[in-house]
Amino acid sequence: MSLAVHTSDLDIIGAGFVPLDYAATAPCVRAAADAVNALLPRYGSVHRGTGPRSQTSTLEYERARDVIADFLGCRPGDQVIFTRNTTDALNLLARALPPGTTTVVFDGEHHANLLPWPNALRLPAPASWADAVTTAERALRELRGPVLLTVTGASNVTGELWPVRELAAVAHRHGARIAVDAAQLAPHVPVSLADLDADYVALSGHKLYAPFGAGVLAGRADWLDAAPPYLAGGGASAHVGDRAGDVRWAAGPARHEGGTPNLLGAVSLAAVCSALGEADRAALRAHEQELLAHLREGLRRVPGVAEVSIFGTGSERVGIVSLTLNGRDPSVVAGRLAEGFGIGVRAGKFCAHPLVRRLSETPGNAGCDGGLLRVSFGLGTTPEDIDSLLAALASL
Ligand code: PLP
Repeated sequence: MSLAVHTSDLDIIGAGFVPLDYAATAPCVRAAADAVNALLPRYGSVHRGTGPRSQTSTLEYERARDVIADFLGCRPGDQVIFTRNTTDALNLLARALPPGTTTVVFDGEHHANLLPWPNALRLPAPASWADAVTTAERALRELRGPVLLTVTGASNVTGELWPVRELAAVAHRHGARIAVDAAQLAPHVPVSLADLDADYVALSGHKLYAPFGAGVLAGRADWLDAAPPYLAGGGASAHVGDRAGDVRWAAGPARHEGGTPNLLGAVSLAAVCSALGEADRAALRAHEQELLAHLREGLRRVPGVAEVSIFGTGSERVGIVSLTLNGRDPSVVAGRLAEGFGIGVRAGKFCAHPLVRRLSETPGNAGCDGGLLRVSFGLGTTPEDIDSLLAALASL
């Protein structure tokens, strides 16, 4: 097996322990830390001042927006709005839907993409890509008025990719739009609105090797420009009169970015996007797939451990695997991995209750409250990390 791809901007900072919970929050890479350190001694207000610090900060903030627009393959006229995270981005989109919009969503989603939608039609989690496309087509055919189909790019439970391109084609054939929750896809696979022919994409910086607190919603401007501001306040308002309600809201991203923005979050996220944009992502992905194969092969040899899957074991996926433990409580096992071996994984339902309930309902798994054990990884993960986990699981 080849060793890690060495790209210094994409080196993980910090050492110690074995982090295998990237799907929750990934460790930070050097590019993000360098960007924060470079800006800390220089920053000032954003869009609110004339001093040199303020001007530099405004420029850096808007440059970050441009970098992220490139990274996400935005088309002319698409907007990039900074949010706190994916949950925030999808809630923003939910609030910007034209009146009467029906949202179509599968049961396999993370709660962030299941709960914000005001008028949601929930479809059962499909058993295959073909099933996903047929089920969506059947639902979309019946709907009238504005429709948004919203789907995850990669499952936060199984890492399996969803047929985003195919679903985008179906949605557009029926006059609907499609939003992609790329929280788990973007850290592993290039995501392009133009290539996927998707209308919106949402992601979280803290899952993309940047620090906490910044996320993005990117996509078509018309619904966003027509919607009431997501956060009413300074920055979102272009003119405020003397009477209540006499407000002209700003156009463009500022409309939904009320309040002082998270400059360090935006700039560090853009630094990671820029480093990933320059990296050989095919090589990074190939390396991750080798690690994934090594992990899955090793897991098959650990008695009592079984991988779960939405679309079947052969489906394409990113570096996320969830397991049943033959009736053993995943949170107890996760605790033993942490205390005894310094290995961080996640146990439970991962904010995807309907999907995890379905996947964990196997006869041998009774008595563990429907939870799973999840292993997830990415940049900086080594074969030795995987071996440590496999040895620890076998010894438990
Ligand atoms: N969507 C998916 C697929 C996720 O895995 C997560 C978090 O795990 C989210 C959305 C929500 O991300 P955040 O908690 O950063 O808002």
